Formats: sequence, structure tokens, C-alpha cells
Amino acid sequence: MIAAKTELRAGTLPLFIGGRLQFSNKVFPTIEPATGDTLAEVSLASASDVDGAVAAARYAFDQGPWPRMSGGERAAYLMRVADLIEDRQSTLAEFESRDTGLPVRFTAEGHLPRTVAHFRYFAEEATRLVGEVFALDSAYLSLVVREAVGVAAVITPWNAPLSIASMQVAAALACGNTCVLKPSELAPVTSSMLADVMAAADLPEGVFNLIHGPAEPTGRALVEQPGIDIVSFTGGTATGKQILAASARYVRRVLCELGGKSANLILEDADLNSALDGSLLSMYANNGEACHAASRLLVARPIYERFSEMFADRVGNLQLGNPLDPDTEVGPLISEEHQARVLNFVQSGLEDGASLLAGGSEAPDLKGGYYVLPTVFANANNSMRIAREEIFGPVAVIIPFETEDEAVEMANDSDYGLAGYIWTARFDRALELASRLRVGSVSINSPMIRDIRVPFGGFKRSGIGRTGGRFSITHYTELKTICVPVQGYTFPRLGSRES
Ligand code: NAD
Repeated sequence: MIAAKTELRAGTLPLFIGGRLQFSNKVFPTIEPATGDTLAEVSLASASDVDGAVAAARYAFDQGPWPRMSGGERAAYLMRVADLIEDRQSTLAEFESRDTGLPVRFTAEGHLPRTVAHFRYFAEEATRLVGEVFALDSAYLSLVVREAVGVAAVITPWNAPLSIASMQVAAALACGNTCVLKPSELAPVTSSMLADVMAAADLPEGVFNLIHGPAEPTGRALVEQPGIDIVSFTGGTATGKQILAASARYVRRVLCELGGKSANLILEDADLNSALDGSLLSMYANNGEACHAASRLLVARPIYERFSEMFADRVGNLQLGNPLDPDTEVGPLISEEHQARVLNFVQSGLEDGASLLAGGSEAPDLKGGYYVLPTVFANANNSMRIAREEIFGPVAVIIPFETEDEAVEMANDSDYGLAGYIWTARFDRALELASRLRVGSVSINSPMIRDIRVPFGGFKRSGIGRTGGRFSITHYTELKTICVPVQGYTFPRLGSRES
């Protein structure tokens, strides 16, 4: 049984280990990006706290009821988690926005319903886990069964804390794994609220554990812990490389959902108004802090001037402001450091000779928060830093192309391969272009739509593995083959003279 049941809070955030809330002597602050003030103090997990969390998850997996329950029993717990999140949805959305700076219109209408849907979807999947049978020449049957992998370390970024954590945690638990979640140190509040929900749902001790802290000492200690069987990492490509290197020692399965620099191809025959609406949404939703942000707009030369003008005009009109204001379209960036990093990219665009059409600075009227005006550059080329590196903020770059071959070449001339977008009136043309883009997801005449059932993940340096539906189930299960002879079949008897 869970020892402590708590209400949602934003005071000092505890760790949640083996079903118990645990406060550390050392704390660190999480800052509210709209004001620069401390939103909450957070317990810092030391290396020995990490060991404790992994030991609790290990015990719950090796000795506890969770992996041995029926899928239906696990589903009932996960449905309860979904209901409890739904009951607290508006509070969670408010804290998600306060902790990340994401406008509440996106957290309340997107991230939170999505979080609930993840738990409901994977609860149902828990009841649908099936194997296969292979018959060999009427002599043997091979039964292929799915089993949980073990203890999962789930490491998440700050740009969509709950929706990303829930996608991984729900799938991991549905398959019978236990887990240790480490959210980003920059936005840990709603993951702590998720621990409260897990306690309220009465999950068996140690099935879900939560630790807080930055890479040092917490993240690194987690991936170096030998008791972890599987790592699910969502974050930057540089961090992904470190996590892969640490996991190589244990020959451990690692899911990497990494960065992107997605191309958005706007062809001459595109419906300009929908291309405009879709491109703005794909670029500036989530403050541009989205892995699949359509941040490189490649526009056909004949419509380049007109489209750039229309786009810049709308960018200039984007409503920048307090993330809790329902009218806000773009909020403050996650931290002062990230604000400086994004402004540094703006400076590099100017130095490289790109033309600034809108934005390009801090917001003069919004003091105290980490705001950057929604920004767009034109007359850029694909070799500029602003076109090559992931900025992860509200900065778009528009590049003209002469031919479709040139557009495809530029789109693919990137270290990343997460997503691509195509706007054209001709479906056959769009499908042909989609087949040539080296990316994990292509959206045609549409912003990114994330159907929970479909695979999401990257080509190239955007990641390894896929998340979503049965692709998550594949990640979180081992396949075991059990071979049995068919009754009556006799096999050759070595060493015997009898026939
Ligand atoms: P990050 O890589 O800095 O941090 C991600 C998480 O990893 C955090 O919890 C952090 O504390 C932890 N971490 C950092 N170093 C670690 C280490 N050595 N060992 C263990 N843990 C470590 O990323 P971020 O700045 O939080 O997030 C932004 C990045 O995430 C962007 O690159 C974005 O594209 C990517 N992202 C990808 C997806 C996707 O689905 N592909 C989704 C969202 C965000």
C-alpha cells in the first residue's frame, strides 16, 4: 500500500520512492518564466536517492504484483490514473503553463487532454497484449509471448513535461514494467503532481517512482545505474549521445526521441491561406519550443515574396504575453539562459546576412519574463547557422527554391530527420515528395497531427526507435519464444539402436 497520499501542491516538491514521499536536504528552485520568480523549491535527488528509486522499482518488478497481474487489472489502475488527471485537468494545465511558459490555450486544450488520452489508450492496450504461434511441419509449435522488459528509466525534457512523460509511463506500465521518471529540472512541477495522482490511484509500491534533479548528479546516476533495463529518453541530440554511451556498458535498449530542424515546403500551387495558417501553427505553437517545429520554410520562388510578406505580417501580430492569459499565443521561453541562446541565434542570422522581417529582440513591453518577440528571417540560405541548428524558440527562417529537386535536397541537407511539411494542391506530387524526405513524419497540407496509434520518431540524428500505439508496445516488451512438440511427434533418438 502507498504510505502517503497528498494533494496537489506547489511548495517544496518531494521525490516519490517506493510509494513514499521523500524530501531532500538539498533543494533547487524551479523558476516561473513569465516573472523570473521561484515557483517551487524542489528536492534534489542525490546518487543514493537514485539508487533507492531504482531499487524500489527493481523490487516491485522482481517481487511485486505488477508484472504478474492480468492486463485487465493493470488497465483498471491506469484508467483510475486517467480519471484522476482529468479531475485535476485545469489545475495541472495552469501549473504546466506557469512552470514552462507555454500558453494555457495549448496546455489546457492540448497537453492535458492528451495526457489523459495516453493513460486511457495504453490501459486498453494492456488488455490487448497478444503473442503469436508458429507451427513447424506439424511437429513443433513455437509460442511467441510478450513480456515486460523490467525497470524503465524515463527521462523527459521541459517543453511538454506531462504529455511526454505520460506517453512513456503509460506504455511502460501497461506492459508490466515498473519505472523511474526523471523530469527536466527546469519544469518538474506537474511530474510531481503526477506522483500525487499515482499515490491517489493506489498503485502498488515502487511501480512508479519520481526523482528530481539536473544531469549532475541525478540524470547521470540514473543512466549509470545497473538496475535499469531500458531507457526512454526524450531531449536534445547531444544528451542522447551521452545516454547511449552510458547504456552501451549494459547493452541496454534505449529509445531516443531527439531534436529536429524540420523543413516546410510550400509549392507554387499551394493554397496560400491554409499554408500560412498551418505554417504559423507548426512554427510558433508551444513558443517554437517543439521538436517538430516547422522552422525552415522552403518556398517556391514565384510565391516567395508574397508568402514572406504575408507570413511576416501575421508573425508581427502574434499575441505575446502571460501564458495564463487565454488570448496569449506565444509565451516566455523556459529560462533566461535559453532566452540568451535564442537571441544569440538571431544575432548570427543578422551577421550571416539574412533579412529580419519581424521580431529579433526581447519584448520591450514585457519586463521580468524571458520573452523573445516572434521572429522571422528571409533571404536566408541553408548553410546559415539559423537554418542548420535547432533554435528551439520562436525563430523561423524562409529560404526560396527554384525547383522541387532543390527543395528536397535542401530539406534533406540537415543532420536531423524528425518531420517534414508539404503544401501543394496536387496530392500525387505531395506523395512523391513525401517519399523523398528523409524524416519520420510528413504532414501534407496540415500541421503535425499526433494520432496516438501511429509511430513518431526520427531518422538520422533525430532519434532511434518509435513511440506510439503498438510501436511503444514493441519498445516496452521482450519477445520470448517457447517451443513445444506437437503431441504424438517423435524425434530422432541419438545413441539408440532401436528404430
Ligand atoms: P536536454 O537534452 O537538455 O534534457 C532532457 C532531459 O535529459 C532532462 O531531464 C535533463 O535533466 C536530462 N539530462 C541531461 N543530460 C543528461 C545526462 N548526461 N544523463 C542523463 N540525463 C540527462 O533537453 P531539453 O533542453 O530538456 O529539451 C529540448 C530538446 O528535447 C530539444 O532538442 C527537442 O527537440 C527535444 N525534444 C524531442 C522530442 C521528440 O519527441 N523527438 C520531444 C520533445 C523535445
